[in-house]
Formats: sequence, C-alpha cells, structure tokens
Amino acid sequence: MAKYIAEPFRIKAVETIKMTTRDEREKLIKEAKYNLFNLKGEDVYIDLLTDSGTGAMSVEQWAGVMKGDEAYAGASSYYKLRDAGIDVFGYDYIQPVHQGRAAEKVLFPLLLNEGKYAISNMFFDTTRAHVELAGARAIDCVVEEAKNPTIRSPFKGNMDVEKLEKLINEYGPEKIGVVVMTITNNSAGGQPVSMKNMREVSEVCKKYNIPLNIDAARYAENAYFVKKREEECKHMSIQEIVKQMFSYADTFTMSAKKDAIVNMGGLIGVKDADSPLILKIKANCISYEGFYTYGGLSGRDLEALAIGIYEGIDESYLAYRIGQSEYIADRLDEAGISYQAPVGGHGVFVDAQAMFPHIPYYEFPGQVLAVELYKEAGIRTCDIGSYMLGNDPDTKEQLKADFEFTRLAIPRRVYTQAHLDNVVDALIAIKERAHEIKRGYRITWEPPILRHFQAHLEPIE
Ligand SMILES: *Cc1c(COP(=O)(O)O)cnc(C)c1O
Repeated sequence: MAKYIAEPFRIKAVETIKMTTRDEREKLIKEAKYNLFNLKGEDVYIDLLTDSGTGAMSVEQWAGVMKGDEAYAGASSYYKLRDAGIDVFGYDYIQPVHQGRAAEKVLFPLLLNEGKYAISNMFFDTTRAHVELAGARAIDCVVEEAKNPTIRSPFKGNMDVEKLEKLINEYGPEKIGVVVMTITNNSAGGQPVSMKNMREVSEVCKKYNIPLNIDAARYAENAYFVKKREEECKHMSIQEIVKQMFSYADTFTMSAKKDAIVNMGGLIGVKDADSPLILKIKANCISYEGFYTYGGLSGRDLEALAIGIYEGIDESYLAYRIGQSEYIADRLDEAGISYQAPVGGHGVFVDAQAMFPHIPYYEFPGQVLAVELYKEAGIRTCDIGSYMLGNDPDTKEQLKADFEFTRLAIPRRVYTQAHLDNVVDALIAIKERAHEIKRGYRITWEPPILRHFQAHLEPIE
C-alpha cells in the first residue's frame, strides 16, 4: 500500500474551489482551443499545470510581506535577501530579478551570441528560448537512461560527460559560450543530478575554460535526492550539499517560484566578487528589470524570498514534499501506469506514449492525456513532449521529443492526500478507456516561439 508522509504544518487559511460537471468542462476546453493554458484558473478543480509560483507561503513569509522595505534603492529587504543568498549558496554576488526567465534574459546575452552554442543536461523551455534569442543554439546532452522512463536509476538528470567533451571538441571550445546544469532536470522529469556528475562537468568546463551556470530552480529538491541516494553525501546536511553543489559552478540563474516557495521572484548568482560579469549584470538588470537592489520585485517580495530560501531546505518539509510525488508514484505502480521512474521531485511525469501507444508524436499524446484529465475530473496538467518542444528553428519541421509526458506538477504545501487520490483515480479511469481514444490533436495556429503556451489545437476526427 502506498504510504503518505503527513504534512509538517497545519492549515490556517483556506481557498474554496469551484466544482464543474463533465459537460461544462467539455465546453470549456473546446472554447480554450484545447490548450490548458487558455482555461480560466477558476474553472479548474485541481491545478497541476505547474509548481511555479503556486506554493502556499508560510506565516513567517506573510509576516515578512508586512515588513517589506519598499525603498527604491538599498532596501533592508534587499540586504536580507542578499545575505540569505550568500549564506545558502556561498556566492559573493546575488542579484534579484522578477523570475527565472528574467535571470536568463539578463545573463545569457553576456555569454552567448550568433554562432555560439550552449550545452545543457537538458534545457528548460524558456532557457532554450533565451539561448536562441541571444542568437546561439541549445544542445541537450542528458545521460541515455533519462530517455527510458522504465529504467530506475538514481540520477537520471545527469549530464553525459563523455558526450559533453565530444561535443566541445566537435564544435570547438571557443564556440561553447556556456554549459548549463539544470538541477533538478525539469524536462527529464524532475530527475536529480549527482554531486559526482556536477564535479565531473565542472572539471570538463575548467579544462576548456567554459563558464558553468546552474539553472537552479530546484536546488533544494536536488540536494534532498543527493542526500538520500549518494553515498558520499549521506551524512551532510541539505545546506552543506547545496553549498558544495554550487561551489562547482561560476554562476547560477534561478526561478525562485519553485524551491524558494514564493509566488514571484528569481535570482542570479555570481561566485566571485571580482568577476567582470557583475557590472554587466547590473547594467542589463537596470535596463530590463529595475535598479539592482530590487530587480523587478517589490520590497515585500524580496523579504518573502529571503525567508523562503531557508524554508525550502528544511529536511522535514522536503521529506513531505518528495513524499507526495512518491505517494502518487506508488499508487500508479499499483495501477500499472508508467511514468518517469523513479519519480522526480516536483511532480509525476506520466508516460502518455505508453498509455496511447497508437497515437504518434506529431498528434501529441502528452496533450491528449492532459485534455482527458481535464474532461475527466477538472485536473489541469501539461504536455512535456513534442507539443512543448516545437519545431526545428532551421527547417521549421515538428521535432520528435525523447519522451511524451503529461506532467502532474505538485504545488508546494497546497494539496492534501485526498486531492492526490482524486488525480490517481482519474488517471486509472482514463487508462481503462485509452484504446477508445484513437487520434490526437493538430495545431491550427501557433506563434513562432514557446508555442505551447498559446497555440490553438483541434481534435483530429
Ligand atoms: C521555471 C524554470 C525556469 C524559468 O523560470 P520562470 O520563473 O518560470 O521564469 C527556468 N529553468 C527551470 C529549470 C525552471 O524550472
């Protein structure tokens, strides 16, 4: 029997959610052009679209909101955030920005331009977009086992280090503007990166004099997996693991809307105080985000973030947090539904291709399952597959993703065991009639970049 780890908190405020009927949902999703991003939030019962900015803040964070210092320059909330960043990550320079993609927008053009390449264990969609907006090309280099959802290996988020070195030599080290380590590896299913892998990647980068950036949205969940799964780190605290992990890189970009449990925020970190990047980051930040002591955030956001950075690394919170994903995974095992295994940190990536083996990648099996979940029970999820990946920037042809997932992203401290049971029950019901769903979707309109947020779809009859 699947075991649920009880919440290490109690509930102080509640938010009512609207119930809808299946008929209403059929109509609503059609009006939304079968794109779940087009639905109104209030028409969703359990919202697993993303774990980004959807967490519940603590009483300490809400108290911090009142204490936020709204000075334009040099607010005390900025210093509190800076000190928290220096303490937890061990970096000299901490730059607030309004979210993760803002960090990418500020930093990446300083490292990349036309003709250059960026290599990652796996790029998140906005990260890939900012590599391309800077004129460069993004290359994924994840370990092979990440591409097989049934292989249960402990660090499926790792970089393929041998392949990385081969790619560097193939393109020429001077052409590689940056190597990006995404921890945890979001697009591969929230899979962790090991300390050993990070160290090896760092050695390769040093050898060829290539800057190493951490895409650090899930720094805490990654550290929790490292503690549980990697022998050399099992006696270290989460904070020690985070600090050592970050010591191997030169910079980090972070969406603080994930592990730092705020509704809005992001960070850039630079390890060395004498890095020439710092002045350029400040300049870009002032142009795009705001003065460098607030970076597009209000003082109250800075204050909540300074607190959230620490709450995210609390070990009993992390045990409960990862426990929620593991609970869903155990129930899916019992039901014979396959997912990226072992389950990752921030959610469950259900193998939609396995559920709909007869639907080809260009009819978007991940999107098929996402739409079915909404119709079945008002659950909102998203495709992490060929629909999200989009078209080849050169040939404009539909790319085939390594996997066709439907992602159940779990917001932090928001849903209870009964909600999670409701989700699994819906998946089981869909699996039972999966063979009756014969065809997928076609795109009737799409924007040139990051299309999955806005595209219009229709079912193929
Ligand atoms: C969410 C995320 C981003 C982008 O951050 P936003 O805050 O959504 O702009 C970048 N990289 C990873 C790995 C992410 O999960």
